[in-house]
Amino acid sequence: MGLEDFLGDGFLSTRIKDLLAWGRRNSLWPMPFGTACCAIEMMSTLSSRYDMSRFGAEVVRFSPRQSDLLIVGGRVTLKMMPVLQRIWLQMPEPKWSISMGACASCGGVFDTYTMIQGVDQFIPVDVYIPGCPPRPENLIDAVRLIQDKVSGVDIQRLIDERTGIPQLPRLEEMQARRARGAFEVPR
Ligand code: SF4
Repeated sequence: MGLEDFLGDGFLSTRIKDLLAWGRRNSLWPMPFGTACCAIEMMSTLSSRYDMSRFGAEVVRFSPRQSDLLIVGGRVTLKMMPVLQRIWLQMPEPKWSISMGACASCGGVFDTYTMIQGVDQFIPVDVYIPGCPPRPENLIDAVRLIQDKVSGVDIQRLIDERTGIPQLPRLEEMQARRARGAFEVPR
């Protein structure tokens, strides 16, 4: 059914900010950061069986400058964290992020000195997906939660809150400690 059928000869009124939010929520462009098995589930979510295009989020970009939804799926090591941070900073505002699976959210079973014990220590995370691995339905659920957030959020306030991400200096501190030979598990 087209919009014309729905409205008939009537008309629709709205606010500009609601119209923009409607457009944003239904055209999310994901930036996949898949490093391990969770990425396979992410790929599956984009396949015809689960069909992410039903939610307008199937246009996966491998360029951060064209993306507004970062999906971190898999283990992230201390060496890879600067890359992830760089990708996050290169994505234009407004932007959102999903931490997919136990490894990205808390290190999973990999409680070692090389492994980041939760990406939220270094980049902001909007939605966490539990599980090892989460199913494609879980990722779809997370995208729908992001859509709700996009509709309800004050974009300017979101950008202001994220300016000067407090997590950023922490990576340099951890790398310096590691260079000195102080290999503690990052918490
Ligand atoms: S949470 Fe499980 S499935 Fe996902 S990357 Fe870690 S070990 Fe693999």
